[in-house]
Amino acid sequence: MRRFHCTCGQEVMFEDSECSACGQLLGFNPETLEMLAVFADEGEELMFGDDGSLRPCALRDHPVACNWLIPAVDEHTQCRSCRLTRTIPAQTTPINVQRWNILETAKRRLVYSLLWLGLPVVDREEDPDVGLAFDFLEDQRTNPLVKKQVVLTGHNDGVITLHAIEADDVHRVKAREQMNERYRTVLGHMRHEIGHYYWDKLIRNSDWYPRFRRLFGGEEYYRQALDYYYTYGPAPNWGSRHISAYASAHPWEDWAESWAHYLHIMSTLETATGFGVLPQADVYSSDFHVLMQKWEQLTVLMNSLNRSMGMPDAYPFWLTPQVIVKLRFIHQVIAATAEK
Ligand SMILES: [Zn+2]
Ligand SMILES: [Zn+2]
Ligand SMILES: [Zn+2]
Repeated sequence: MRRFHCTCGQEVMFEDSECSACGQLLGFNPETLEMLAVFADEGEELMFGDDGSLRPCALRDHPVACNWLIPAVDEHTQCRSCRLTRTIPAQTTPINVQRWNILETAKRRLVYSLLWLGLPVVDREEDPDVGLAFDFLEDQRTNPLVKKQVVLTGHNDGVITLHAIEADDVHRVKAREQMNERYRTVLGHMRHEIGHYYWDKLIRNSDWYPRFRRLFGGEEYYRQALDYYYTYGPAPNWGSRHISAYASAHPWEDWAESWAHYLHIMSTLETATGFGVLPQADVYSSDFHVLMQKWEQLTVLMNSLNRSMGMPDAYPFWLTPQVIVKLRFIHQVIAATAEK
């Protein structure tokens, strides 16, 4: 994430709709990845940008509190992140209102990083068959009124499904402990699932496919492999070859876990560079070897800072050479896609 400033000079956050120092209204333009000050707020309609050609997302003065902008001439009412959402949990309970806010907040960070990396973000309106969409669902564990007994987090032909309960801290920590995971966040889920989406889009039926198979393995017997994983646990010594235990379940999961990890790395490197923690350089176009060196230094810093605060390590991972080779492959695929 890059840094943003109000016109008064105050540093503002990506999520802010208003400057905490001068009170000026702010909006984020996803087309240029810039934070913009309000142009005019007289009357009913807010206008943003130098010429007032942008207006706020319909979910701005709303519990979702989206601060993204859309062109004033656009026929849509919601921004390009909000309108990726196809289904939301019933907004009849305060907890579901809060969950929707948390899910959308994470999704805007996800979409920001995809746009920053130059990846195609195609919604279902543009591509009704395999365009991107999000279903935030409940099942009978949280809402006895819904039909679904169990909602599983997953991806299918562009549709990313996430149980709305993943927005709850208590649930996530419990699930993380039960599944023996090192890391579990809403943003992490989204980065993982979007990895499956881009596998379909960029690897399947592409020239990259043979290399994918050499690095990650053949992707036959997916269901059986997942059943096996949930019955018997991860492969022994998974840590030498995989970024997480779950990545050892199947090559597709390995890809999605590695993809999510690559997005974690790039996003955090961008933030650190903005704050001068790392030398000012274009993180994105840097040599992969250099990126990994910078990343290693930064993770030591991050973990040391967290330990000083009495917190668990921010980065509880260890990158082995076999994992780095997979991350480099993802780096190459994304760089080549962005150039097109
Ligand atoms: Zn200000
Ligand atoms: Zn929005
Ligand atoms: Zn997956």
